[in-house]
Amino acid sequence: MKVPLLDLKPQYHALKADLDAALLRVAESQYFILGPEVKALEAAVATYSGCKFGIGLSSGTDALLIALMALDIGAGDEVVTTPYSFFATAGTVARVGARPVFVDILPDTFNISPAAIEAFLATKCEKRGDALVNRATGGRVRAIIPVHLYGQVADMTRVMEIARKFDLAVIEDAAQAIGSEDPQGRRACSIGDIGCLSFFPTKNLGAFGDAGMCVTNDARLAEKLEILRVHGGKPKYYHKVIGGNFRLDEIQAAVLNVKLPHLDSWSAARQRNAAFYDGAFARAGSATGVRTPPLAPRAARHIYNQYCIRVPRRDALREYLQQQGVGTEVYYPLSLHMQECFAYLGYQPGDFPESLRAANETLALPIFPELVEPQLQYVVDSIAAFFKR
Ligand SMILES: *Cc1c(COP(=O)(O)O)cnc(C)c1O
Repeated sequence: MKVPLLDLKPQYHALKADLDAALLRVAESQYFILGPEVKALEAAVATYSGCKFGIGLSSGTDALLIALMALDIGAGDEVVTTPYSFFATAGTVARVGARPVFVDILPDTFNISPAAIEAFLATKCEKRGDALVNRATGGRVRAIIPVHLYGQVADMTRVMEIARKFDLAVIEDAAQAIGSEDPQGRRACSIGDIGCLSFFPTKNLGAFGDAGMCVTNDARLAEKLEILRVHGGKPKYYHKVIGGNFRLDEIQAAVLNVKLPHLDSWSAARQRNAAFYDGAFARAGSATGVRTPPLAPRAARHIYNQYCIRVPRRDALREYLQQQGVGTEVYYPLSLHMQECFAYLGYQPGDFPESLRAANETLALPIFPELVEPQLQYVVDSIAAFFKR
């Protein structure tokens, strides 16, 4: 049996008539950039995310970049975030000239630890006038970027309390978490100042290429984002600020407009698959050595962009599963604080023990909506067989 980590073809074939028609509609219109498809998508995704405004963008990475720009974060500024995420979370902070400050994650959810954020702010920083200054660097701490990793919302109640206490902005990196909810039923992106979404093809809502969006409830920020998206020109060819080309194209928006109404059923299928794994690993017993992701708090909505288990001998298991026809991936093998490009930040491997442990132990299993039970059972049986050898 073959169980790929992700196969996008069944989703395409299920929606082929609608998707092909949408692509042809754009071809016939010859309207390619920031047109009616983008407008419709912006309104639909904003509503879906519990926000008033959506700004369609070229990628999730550009969403993070432009969010930082809209908050005027740049040289001399610092942004607190997690070392256990996709590179873009911290890469964009450095790209605007600011300094990423990492704090460790919580072992159960893999999300940023509010206690660690608070410990950094309370013990390593001090108020100087209006600014909150990192004593070690002299930099001014401006914002927090929590990442809703694998599709589960970070502890936003605590993050927002801390942000208010220290007067910091909050950018939600919801690239993996469109439509997920915290235990209070609040949607990812609707809690902080700006939410950033990615429509990269492997995300729960995937385009036919790169695409992203910022969503917000703040009209002033929405306007700034719109201006920055087109090189900072408003009116056209008159620039008070320097932006970039962060535009979303009509073909991507047309594809996403077809897919969005199906997103809830796909997320439900991912949840069903996750529940199957949870049950099957529990039945297989501790002999497998597998630790499944702990169940989210009851009222929370986890959309399982990834289903990551923790296992001993992870790399050997991964190789064995490969031989058995089961695709897996390691998200992420090297924490951001250990990336060569961030050596100048001066972190040591052991600075964030939970991130280090997660990087060594986690393995993402196939979880995409169209998987069938025999495939899921085969994954579990293959893992059990590895540990019985
Ligand atoms: C995918 C991802 C991004 C970047 O999105 P792109 O659309 O690929 O640029 C940022 N942050 C996280 C956590 C992601 O998973």
